[in-house]
Amino acid sequence: MNRNILWASVIVLMQVFRLTIDLHQINTLATPDVSTKKELNLYNKESLSLARLTRESCLESDSNRTTYYNLYGSEIKHTTEGNNNNILLLTHSRNCDRCLDKGYYLVNPGIDLLDSIRKAYRESDRLQREYFFATGHDGWISAVISGDREYIPAGLIAGVRNQLKERNDSILLAVHTHPLMKDEFDQVLRPGNAFPSGADTIKKLGRFEFILGYVYDAPRMQPNSVMNTGPSGSYRPLIGIYSGSEMIDTISLSDFEKLVWKLNNRNNRGSR
Ligand SMILES: [Zn+2]
Repeated sequence: MNRNILWASVIVLMQVFRLTIDLHQINTLATPDVSTKKELNLYNKESLSLARLTRESCLESDSNRTTYYNLYGSEIKHTTEGNNNNILLLTHSRNCDRCLDKGYYLVNPGIDLLDSIRKAYRESDRLQREYFFATGHDGWISAVISGDREYIPAGLIAGVRNQLKERNDSILLAVHTHPLMKDEFDQVLRPGNAFPSGADTIKKLGRFEFILGYVYDAPRMQPNSVMNTGPSGSYRPLIGIYSGSEMIDTISLSDFEKLVWKLNNRNNRGSR
């Protein structure tokens, strides 16, 4: 009799155990796909939340500060408020008053922003059309979407605006590409520049905008070389920063990447 009860208990336990495993598998399957989640990620939260988690475990007296950088990555000033925030002012100048007044800055720009910029450049040149995405005031990043050959249709912009709205956010920074238009032999027919077209300046989509374009670097002539034998020039990715009809500044993609990496490394280092 006792033995029967024992066996019954064992069988019940085994079934409960199996059910737990099944439930675990269901939970694992129900986890949202990371790649789709990333499309709508906070551009600052990933790096910041990591920094915050580790910072709480160690006592640092100077972790409450906000540091202001310009586009050279130079520290312009800092205040003793905030939660180790990095404010990237969108100017190469050391005078940050104008940028602060007008709100031309990014708070804690993160690696997700770089990923979206790189994706927009890559897809834009591959498919020879303009690409668009936007980031919100709260740091949400929209998906990177394909526009037309020469413009971003208004309906697509409205869609992005709605994506942010669903998260109670609105456009701070709108980004679109000016691709290198090439022929079938991969020769550049029409380079996209980093400056707003007439149409770009008509309507403000966010507080400021980035154009992902290019600048032409002329070939460097060797002192003794004969004309036409040197290497041809090349197109280098250049980001134009503007707001309406006001051109704010430009920065090369590689400098912008170094800058964002620098700010994020600073956060992680400070947290250890
Ligand atoms: Zn444009």
